[in-house]
Amino acid sequence: MTEKCGVVGISLDGRDAARPLYYSLYALQHRGQESAGIVTHDGFQQHSHVEMGLVGDAFSEDDIESLNGPAGIGHVRYPTSGSVDSSCAQPFSVSFKSGSLGLSHNGNLVNADEIRDELADSGHAFTSDGDTEVIAHDLARNLLEEDLVRAVKQTMTRIHGSYSLTITHDDTVMGVRDPQGNRPLCIGELDDGYILASESAAIDTLDGELVRDVKPGELVILRADGQGFDSYQLVEQKQTAHCFFEHVYFARPDSVIDGKRVYEVRRDLGRKLWEESGIDSDVVLPVPDSGRAFASGYAEAADDVEFAEGLMKNRYVGRTFIMPTQDERERAVRLKLNPIKSTIEGKTVTIIDDSIVRGTTSTQLVKLLKDVGAEEVNVRIGAPPIVAPCYMGIDMASRDELIASDKSVEEVADEINADSLAYLSKDAVAEVLEQSRDDLCMGCVTGEYPYDIEGEEADREITRTEVPADD
Ligand code: 5GP
Ligand code: MG
Repeated sequence: MTEKCGVVGISLDGRDAARPLYYSLYALQHRGQESAGIVTHDGFQQHSHVEMGLVGDAFSEDDIESLNGPAGIGHVRYPTSGSVDSSCAQPFSVSFKSGSLGLSHNGNLVNADEIRDELADSGHAFTSDGDTEVIAHDLARNLLEEDLVRAVKQTMTRIHGSYSLTITHDDTVMGVRDPQGNRPLCIGELDDGYILASESAAIDTLDGELVRDVKPGELVILRADGQGFDSYQLVEQKQTAHCFFEHVYFARPDSVIDGKRVYEVRRDLGRKLWEESGIDSDVVLPVPDSGRAFASGYAEAADDVEFAEGLMKNRYVGRTFIMPTQDERERAVRLKLNPIKSTIEGKTVTIIDDSIVRGTTSTQLVKLLKDVGAEEVNVRIGAPPIVAPCYMGIDMASRDELIASDKSVEEVADEINADSLAYLSKDAVAEVLEQSRDDLCMGCVTGEYPYDIEGEEADREITRTEVPADD
């Protein structure tokens, strides 16, 4: 199961954590729109509210009031394959002999089935088929015999794959990042406590200060009095596997991830794109909203080109719009984007987007722009061709749905009917992120993954129906 999600954890000095958790989930809404949930602990008892839908719809005033206690975690979950499954909504919560546990997970384990089988054999009963419950049971078992830090360490050596977790053990809030740091997680300071969040934008929303990123392999435990946090480097790892796609598409542009400002990264990628494959045209147009930062960098580097808005986005067509068929996905692009004829008619144009997944958006846009009189439509993409699925928590299409999985760039250009098409190189991505390519997870653009993925070969044969690409 793919879990592309947002997680948060907050520990305050006395004040209830539910409301700041709720606001921070709003800030992370782009990371998941299928379900939202909060688990708190008041020192005696755990409280939980998890519901399907957007953050604004999932909690009533009464729900927030009932989530007592200064310690808690929250979660937003991304929709996966067509059907909505409430048993996988999070945070996952359990009570057991040595206390209560709440868990929010962003990422994807590669050995969850194996651990699940082993735990099931020793009497653990599972209520969902998600990874998170596996982590919860493993941790609960370790907590019977070990103190908290050792128990987490044991679980971390047992589970493999990608995980950024926020956890409550009774009223203790903690955060864990996998030894390769695949998904983001950061620490922030609030007026009266501390916060752990997938992205720094959640900290900003609460008027807090970003302290730093959680390090790969680190456990951070927030102090119950809101006065600080303790750090334990539980697993040492020489090589990281930071997801480059967080920077390209997934994260908010106003977040800072692993010390990098996402908006500036995207602008730099846009500048590189011009350097590598710039083409003269009358006007440069961003594909809203995800292409904006790239287009601004590209146009700036191009110097004397007109930079205009040529496509208007309808804000009311949400990401929750689930369309299982290609026909409906095409209709959705048309509902979502409308050309501004005056900036396009009679001109040669270059449109800039962050990525091409299935090719639905770019195919539709090229046609749309030509229909309103563009003389030439060039397409420039701020990431390398996506040729393989993501097994680490971003829900991309299956391999055979990816337009570039079996085509050359020229063939893709033909297919989307662009006058020219160019993608950014993998080296440019590594250069802008100031990382070696070996320290990044670039599985979706190389087909080579930094984790051993069971059944990866077999997956090459499987076709899935999946939610439409968005934005
Ligand atoms: P395509 O139309 O080629 O299938 O998708 C490309 C568009 O989807 C781009 O505008 C990009 O911003 C967006 N996109 C890229 N990755 C994802 C993803 O993982 N999920 C969703 N919903 N949209 C994505
Ligand atoms: Mg987009």
